Amino acid sequence: MGFRATVLTLYPEMFPGPLGVSLAGRALERGQWAMEAVQIRDFATDKHRSVDDTPAGGGAGMVLKADVLAGAIDSVAADSRPRLLMSPRGRPLTQQRVREIAGGEGVVIVCGRFEGVDQRVIEARGLEEVSIGDYILSGGEPAALTLLDAVVRILPGVMGNDLSGVHESFEGGLLEHPHYTRPQLFEDREIPAVLTSGNHAAIDKWRHEQAMKLTRERRPDLLTGNKPD
Ligand code: SAH
Repeated sequence: MGFRATVLTLYPEMFPGPLGVSLAGRALERGQWAMEAVQIRDFATDKHRSVDDTPAGGGAGMVLKADVLAGAIDSVAADSRPRLLMSPRGRPLTQQRVREIAGGEGVVIVCGRFEGVDQRVIEARGLEEVSIGDYILSGGEPAALTLLDAVVRILPGVMGNDLSGVHESFEGGLLEHPHYTRPQLFEDREIPAVLTSGNHAAIDKWRHEQAMKLTRERRPDLLTGNKPD
């Protein structure tokens, strides 16, 4: 059995969405991973099928109801898959966490909407809050798609060339070196001569220097280990 993703959402029609095409889509067709989207509204308990209510204590917006969400979560077979809640308050997603998730049997992902979800369901169902960055989306769905894209591309056999996954930005703790391809001359810019020299030791050295330089300029936190989280 391959990697299995279950996504709890008010908009199941957003899935697999972009993950149904290209690399992830072909892997989905081949059965290298599987996904199901569960409609949270199916677990509403009143005749209006409401999923949200006004925030206790007042204020703008609506809050996803704990009982409805818990019903949706409990409909997913209990297994050892981590249960994530996409949330701007969560721990920022890293390539390391992506690798851990990809190494497991799958994941259950809750997509928030409105102002977010009732705190009690986060605690009662042990949801791990995960953020994809310091900005606010209108819902957790694009965040879930982002996380799943990052996971699926590194599943065994999904990328044509399995080695290409290990040379990316972050995998070696550095941002990646720049890339070039033909034509040799673009407008007035040449491909750096070392890359066409055939000297592989010199190429590796140049790429490492470029990666160090870029990382120092753009993400010194990656070098000092001072992670934003
Ligand atoms: N009021 C909340 C934001 C709610 S946005 C706050 O200020 O923290 C609505 C939903 O979008 C959230 O419940 C979450 O599921 C999703 N979302 C928004 N931004 C996100 C981010 N940066 N990462 C992951 N999920 C996010």
